[in-house]
Amino acid sequence: MLRGVENANTRAAEVLRAKRAGRWYERGLRFRCLWPECNACCSGKRGPGYVWLSVDEMHAIAQFLGKPFEQFTRNYVRQVGSRYSLIEKPNADCIFMEKGGCSIYEVRPTQCRTYPFWHEVMAGEEAWRKESTECPGIHDRAPIVPEYEVTRLLNKDRAARGIATESA
Ligand code: SF4
Ligand code: SF4
Repeated sequence: MLRGVENANTRAAEVLRAKRAGRWYERGLRFRCLWPECNACCSGKRGPGYVWLSVDEMHAIAQFLGKPFEQFTRNYVRQVGSRYSLIEKPNADCIFMEKGGCSIYEVRPTQCRTYPFWHEVMAGEEAWRKESTECPGIHDRAPIVPEYEVTRLLNKDRAARGIATESA
C-alpha cells in the first residue's frame, strides 16, 4: 500500500519538475533579509514610497492594534488614486518601522511579505540582479529560497495586484 503512495508521489514530483523546468529561477534564488543590519525597504533611505494595502489588510491591522477601523484609516492610511497606502513618518520611514523592527509584523501587508519576489523583480535574471543593488539580502552566499517558495510568494504578490499567477 505504501509503495503505491510512493509511486504516486514520484509521478507527482516528475510532473512538478517538468512544470518548473524552464523557469529562469528553477533552481531557486539566493536571498535572506539582513534585518536589523539593513532596513532599507522599510526606511526612507531610498526616498518616499508606498506600502499598498487592501481593505482586508486594513481591518487586520486595525484589529491587531486594537483600534476602530475608521480611526486606524484616518491616522495611518492615505488614498492614492483608487488605492490605499500606509502613511510615512516625516523622514519617509514607514509609519510602523521601529528600532526593533516592524511593529505590525504579524499582520504586515502582502507587499512586505512578498518582497523581493515581486512581479517586476521576477521579470528575469537581469531585473533580479538589478534588485540586488537595492537589497543586500540578495547575494551569492545567501541561502537558497527554493523554487516552490519563490513561486508561492510571487503568486501572492501577483494575486494582490490582480496579475495572472504561475502554476504552482
Ligand atoms: S532591503 Fe533586503 S536586506 Fe534590507 S531590509 Fe529589505 S529585504 Fe531585508
Ligand atoms: S509595514 Fe512593517 S514590514 Fe511593511 S514597510 Fe512598514 S515597517 Fe516595513
